[in-house]
Amino acid sequence: MVGFIYFIWEYIFPIHPFISLKNFYILRNDFLNIIEIYFLSFAFMRIDMHNHTTLSDGTHTPEEVARAVIDRGISLHVATEHDRVNRDVTKWIEEYQLQNKILRDDPLYIHSFEGVEISTRREDGGNASLHILHYAQDISTSVELLLEKTLVGKIEKVQKQCETLHNLWCRVHIWEEAKDFTYENLLLFFPENKKWTLNNSHIWKVLTGSPENMKILSDISHGFLTTENLMSEWLKQKGKYFRTISLSEDLPLYEPTFPQVSASLQNENSILSLAHANFSYGSIELFQKNLPLLVAQWLNGIEINTRASPAWVQAILHAHEKYELLLTFGSDSHTLDGNDERHGDLGSMYLDPIKDRDFIQKKFNKIFQKLAMNT
Ligand SMILES: [Zn+2]
Ligand SMILES: [Zn+2]
Repeated sequence: MVGFIYFIWEYIFPIHPFISLKNFYILRNDFLNIIEIYFLSFAFMRIDMHNHTTLSDGTHTPEEVARAVIDRGISLHVATEHDRVNRDVTKWIEEYQLQNKILRDDPLYIHSFEGVEISTRREDGGNASLHILHYAQDISTSVELLLEKTLVGKIEKVQKQCETLHNLWCRVHIWEEAKDFTYENLLLFFPENKKWTLNNSHIWKVLTGSPENMKILSDISHGFLTTENLMSEWLKQKGKYFRTISLSEDLPLYEPTFPQVSASLQNENSILSLAHANFSYGSIELFQKNLPLLVAQWLNGIEINTRASPAWVQAILHAHEKYELLLTFGSDSHTLDGNDERHGDLGSMYLDPIKDRDFIQKKFNKIFQKLAMNT
């Protein structure tokens, strides 16, 4: 089964083979039928149901990501910001399809629906948060309300972190006018994100952009805090040194628990898929031990992430069979630059069109049926 799924990383496949495929189709003629069928089947397989834009912690705007979706020949795309519904990418894609008269039954048609990556609080003993991908035809008001609460909690968290950094004399020298590390200044620095989605990655960017700040933090921590471990060991709750500089010691628990999330969206057309199990759990054993609880609490999908190792893919496929979970596929792309070591590249996952035809049809029909996309 593992062999049926191909992950193409940038370094293996540095040029996207389908970059100008769309133009190729537009110029197609009958003589190219055979080639077309071959390529069409390829084109149909590019899937990305997990990726980010500047609306959360991605580096590219929704418009830029939409363009990349089109250029890279992705057939099924969902933008999934952290705790925020991104309807902008879909809007750009729809506009493009309308302009080019690409209709739903056209092989070029890009399926795109609503999604969000929901932060939930782990209840299985791990103190990190668990990311759950939620997909729906239309994300419901009850989910939006839940997300709003989370975002308010996130604001409080970032404000507290800034307060601590401010008290530690951290300053934002990158700016001409804004000199202090305050929440308001952080907002000015990331206007695209507005107040809603500032998070650790924004704090990280500002701190590491200033040698003076890094020196302060390094001194305070007796040299332990470095640019490299700032994010993973200091800013993240599960980090080794999280409590050492009290960056977030008395932070409110802003994430809902998984049962709270699932209770607000138990309807037959929604999908709740466990994101990047390979990153959320330290080991396959731990994942297998904790999964039944989530399934009992209404988890109905699981993601194969571009960065999952073959052993993880096997474990995920096994869980998908065992618990009858829907399979979702995603890169968790945060940039279009192709230099992100922690996440995959947009559209870098595809399934073999010949060998996996039945597999794909079965899996995707299930997803589409679930979302009532076929009607
Ligand atoms: Zn995530
Ligand atoms: Zn993500």
